[in-house]
Amino acid sequence: MFEKELRELGKKGLLRTILHRSSSQGAVIKIRGRRYLNFSSNDYLGLANHPELISSAVKAAMSFGTGSGSSRLLAGGIELLERLERDVSCFKSAPASLIFSSGYAANTGIIPALSSPGDLILSDELNHASIIDGCRLSRAKTIIYKHRDMAHLEELLKKDKTKGRKIIVTDSVFSMDGDIAPLPDICEISRKNGAVLYLDEAHATGVIGGGRGGLAHFNIRPMSWIIRMGTFSKALGSFGAFATAETDVIEWLTNRARSFMYSTALPPSVVAASIAALRIVRRDPLLISKLWTNRERLAGGLNLLGFTTMASETPIIPVRVGGIKRTLDMASFLFENMVYAPAIRPPTVKEPRLRITVTAAHTEKQIDTLLNLMERFSMR
Ligand SMILES: *Cc1c(COP(=O)(O)O)cnc(C)c1O
Repeated sequence: MFEKELRELGKKGLLRTILHRSSSQGAVIKIRGRRYLNFSSNDYLGLANHPELISSAVKAAMSFGTGSGSSRLLAGGIELLERLERDVSCFKSAPASLIFSSGYAANTGIIPALSSPGDLILSDELNHASIIDGCRLSRAKTIIYKHRDMAHLEELLKKDKTKGRKIIVTDSVFSMDGDIAPLPDICEISRKNGAVLYLDEAHATGVIGGGRGGLAHFNIRPMSWIIRMGTFSKALGSFGAFATAETDVIEWLTNRARSFMYSTALPPSVVAASIAALRIVRRDPLLISKLWTNRERLAGGLNLLGFTTMASETPIIPVRVGGIKRTLDMASFLFENMVYAPAIRPPTVKEPRLRITVTAAHTEKQIDTLLNLMERFSMR
């Protein structure tokens, strides 16, 4: 049915395929029996393969089984979920929280639950696809503001005559550019205009603000009109997502977020792994320090070599090397040299780039191997 369309994608260098690992996630992964240095995962703290997460998951599976059997509003909820929600609320200094099956499910469930036709959503141009889909499902009027452009955001708010609720939506850390939203300004604009602020902390959780996310990073107190979501699937090495907000908001989401209501609860093993991950992040601040030391070594090294890392401020380091062809060539060159750092192309991003991510699990030597290869490629 789609042979012609697929051929077209292939010709443009835009056909994607899936690469399978035969090992756990980590700084070194095995693909088709060969070992590669891995600079592509969002497992920023190297927790996806941590013995404490694994043993917690195994223990929970032994006690509570594999599947949860139904949605939480039926019989799918176990006490571990309640425990995880308490831990999240405490970690994020929030009154209440609710667990979702994934970050994608959270955004496509929460945003429509918060808004309806007649409301206005203002969304950063580089927000994640799941936010875009959430906005579409909401049927509220959605206006895109230029990336991190506060003057544009204010101008749009001033011009609009919406009588309904206003919601500003932004990633805290942008997933493809690795830059951070100007949250002090956004909070102020939000407050002045009586708008709800919805933050997606998928890449901020476990990474900035001591792992607590964007507000902690900027020393901003959580406020009643700020709703935050984050995921366990990236730095926390597990799976699933959470929302934190005032108690009435969480109760509303429990009653109105369709992705929560009509989807099976997370399996016990996954919930237990998330609880363990939060425990480790709170207990061991050195893990996040290691992540940032590695980040500085790699980003600093790339800049010394003359690579532009765009506006990156985080362990997500995009490197622009030219058009689609040259970007794919660079990714192939690295792959031939046993390094996995894939090219990211349209439609995921407008400008093709290598998206390099560094984690706390990398050694200095592994980072230097990548830098040496990048230098060799740039001199070809
Ligand atoms: C990855 C990501 C999501 C989706 O989270 P999953 O748990 O992978 O479904 C949502 N928002 C942002 C910004 C992300 O990067």
